[in-house]
Amino acid sequence: MIGRFEEALSDACGARYAVAMNSATSALHAAYLALGVTHDDVVWTTPITFVATANAAVYCGAKVDFVDIDPRTFNMSVESLEAKLNRAETLPRVVAVVHMAGQSCDMAEIHRLSKIYGFSVIEDASHALGGSYRNSPIGSCEFSDITVLSFHPVKIITTGEGGAAVTNRPEIARKLQLLRSHGITRNPAEMTAGVNESWYYEQIDIGYNYRMTDIQAALGSSQLTRLNEFVNRRNSIASFYTDALASDHLELPTVGSDRRSAFHLYVIRTVGRDANSCSARRRFLAQRLFMDNVSTNLHYIPVYRQPFYAKHGHRPIDFPNAEHYYASALTIPLYPGMSDGDVECVTNSVLRAISNFS
Ligand SMILES: *Cc1c(COP(=O)(O)O)cnc(C)c1O
Repeated sequence: MIGRFEEALSDACGARYAVAMNSATSALHAAYLALGVTHDDVVWTTPITFVATANAAVYCGAKVDFVDIDPRTFNMSVESLEAKLNRAETLPRVVAVVHMAGQSCDMAEIHRLSKIYGFSVIEDASHALGGSYRNSPIGSCEFSDITVLSFHPVKIITTGEGGAAVTNRPEIARKLQLLRSHGITRNPAEMTAGVNESWYYEQIDIGYNYRMTDIQAALGSSQLTRLNEFVNRRNSIASFYTDALASDHLELPTVGSDRRSAFHLYVIRTVGRDANSCSARRRFLAQRLFMDNVSTNLHYIPVYRQPFYAKHGHRPIDFPNAEHYYASALTIPLYPGMSDGDVECVTNSVLRAISNFS
């Protein structure tokens, strides 16, 4: 079942190899290790992501640093990345970008910088399976070394819990497979001893138990057959919101003309004179929606603000766009199982609330 799921997944992504694991966090850890990240290294990522993107680099002993976001896409800003690379004393070993809310980063530009400054690129595409960039599916790894996917229940497809790393590089795929299962091989060509017994195996590296189960893989294969249906429905709900919620009080998500978002999230931002008024309006909006039984969320609190990371001297002042995002962003409900009535109900609730903005 795992092999079957991996084949379907690599087809859907347009990549040569897929390695299924028990979570995207495991896949991120294995991806950093496969690219050689150790305690001597620095990994750069975006502050507007789930903590796992940064945590998995910490598992390798690496130092994590952050690059500010583009205020229009919430993705890592290529301009900020280039400026930070220019003045960096220590260049990153890996830059891990996140396709926030389902929209691809500017991968061609990030790839160009990776060639100049000599870093590897991981795409954390936990939000973005089923999206595309310049007519290639997310996961094609045309501009990166490895793409990581999540199959947690809230993501685009689910295996209960689960994740995968996809790549076009055979030696990276093999490393990922070894890391997934204790570094154990049954391939005689990889062994040191010439023991010719059917029961013989060797542990040639240190690895983990990051295996997905067959039961999960069977669910994953079934879910993948519905990927287009899920992403189409997400896009049609998003375009309904974008038409219906147009207002001077809100900034709505925009998607570049050369890409298709998988719309894992629909993030709106309140407009105000300054950060305090944005934030007060955001709180008012969330409270009004809650009173109408509409749950909202904030994706994400900037990772450098988490106490674990704040200890390491990151200063909010260095990330003005992430700070403004944090003051104004709110995620409203978007999932394929919403009925048209649900979508209208959320829309009406938002419109009622913003008509009461002071
Ligand atoms: C969900 C998520 C993860 C972690 O996924 P798991 O499968 O729960 O480990 C990592 N990065 C991002 C951006 C995510 O949204």
